[in-house]
Amino acid sequence: MANHVSFFEQVNRNFDRAAALTSHPRGLLDTIKSCNSIYHFTFPLERENGEVEVVHAWRAEHSHHKLPTKGGIRYSLDVNEDEVMALAALMTYKCAIVDAPFGGAKGGIKIDSRKYTKNELEKITRRYTFELVKKNFIGPGIDVPAPDFGTGAREMAWIVDTYTALANDKLEGAACVTGKPIAQGGIRGRTEATGRGVAFVTREVCGVEEDMKALGLSRGIEGKRVIVQGLGNVGSYTATFLQEMGATIIGLLEFDGGLYDPKGLDAQAIVAQWNALRRGEKSIHKLEVPDRAQKLASPAEGLELDCDILIPAALENQITALNVDRIKAKIIVEAANGPVTSDASETLEKRGVLIVPDHYANAGGVLVSYFEWLKNLAHVRFGRLERRFEEQAYRRILEAVEVRTGKSFTEPELKALAHGADEADLVHSGLEDTMGPAYHRLREIRAQHQVDLRTAAFIEAINKIAICYQDLGIFP
Ligand code: NAD
Repeated sequence: MANHVSFFEQVNRNFDRAAALTSHPRGLLDTIKSCNSIYHFTFPLERENGEVEVVHAWRAEHSHHKLPTKGGIRYSLDVNEDEVMALAALMTYKCAIVDAPFGGAKGGIKIDSRKYTKNELEKITRRYTFELVKKNFIGPGIDVPAPDFGTGAREMAWIVDTYTALANDKLEGAACVTGKPIAQGGIRGRTEATGRGVAFVTREVCGVEEDMKALGLSRGIEGKRVIVQGLGNVGSYTATFLQEMGATIIGLLEFDGGLYDPKGLDAQAIVAQWNALRRGEKSIHKLEVPDRAQKLASPAEGLELDCDILIPAALENQITALNVDRIKAKIIVEAANGPVTSDASETLEKRGVLIVPDHYANAGGVLVSYFEWLKNLAHVRFGRLERRFEEQAYRRILEAVEVRTGKSFTEPELKALAHGADEADLVHSGLEDTMGPAYHRLREIRAQHQVDLRTAAFIEAINKIAICYQDLGIFP
């Protein structure tokens, strides 16, 4: 294709646009932009039917300015070296924006996970981990993977089990990967963290009166008409939390079609049905929805429907030069990585569409992964030491209030008011506390440089990473 711009090139184009607005020397900017290491390997897999096939796998560590590096592992037929490098680069910038102290990384295996049995997937995942251990591409202080497209807590459990069997650092072993099941050292709130973060971000965006007015929308998330693409980890939680916050979910799109109801779909019920379908049998057309809901033949159709907020939460390159002119959403929140190509993004910005960029919008996942990593290194659950103490202190205050006022609280009131923070409370609080303020910082940079939010987010990331190199004394 003559005009094809690779995913990594697109990320770098966005980087260059922002870099031009900073005063850092070229050498420093090039250092930040380049991908530090990439490991491509293959291994044979004997399928259960006896056939042998060769599996291609990658791990890219984009930036070692902070260690460990961090980033998900995806299983998809679209995985290739360029994609892995682009996603690793986005991780570097994402971590900087939300102050997660990691360099960026990403891994991928070129398979369609729906076509393999559980045993085959376990074999692939364990072999992948073995290869990473052999080449020093995984470890609590080296490189820490997490779930991404096509992977989840189960794959992370196989990774930690393989890693701890092979590696010498048994004590810190659990911190070699995040997104694990709770019993394997995972943290409460990680599974839903990216979606919860996207929902927080969307609510924060809708809370800015000035921006909403410019888009011809009212302030607040209540009643906003939302379409979500992808019912996987990120999309399903995003839709569910937004519905809880008062948004109207009018469209849900999956790989083989979509559901559309301008009066609103029950996202929670649809997600429950979707999750109950067996792997390999999932289809949007098998879901039971009220008669008034329309079934769409393809997800592409759904992206072009009239809505206030479009949230692509599946894969990259979903809004491109081919469909950009038909996109009607006023706000696009990039829950997936790279769902809008750089050309399409420019066209939409010119039309006044507000795009909330991926490396900020979906950073909730890596942020809570950071909390999980800290928990594993500390070997103690958040809230374990102080929760009971806090509850007792609150109760003493409430008792003093009762004595002063002569009025008593009921037991349910006491329970609610004297609730000490447990792990889930602290994780949600840390997530909300980071995502909200980060948005307002990006808005300030946007106003200062008169740029779009994506460029503002790159400026923020570049400046933060530059400080690390300047502190090393390499650059002026
Ligand atoms: P997932 O595998 O859990 O879900 C992806 C879903 O998208 C699947 O249900 C799949 O069937 C669906 N899908 C595939 N092609 C589609 C299409 N053309 N139209 C509609 N739906 C389609 O993956 P995930 O973890 O939810 O990741 C989704 C995106 O979010 C990816 O870009 C990933 O990099 C990004 N992301 C994920 C996390 C995380 O914590 N999981 C964190 C940050 C960013």
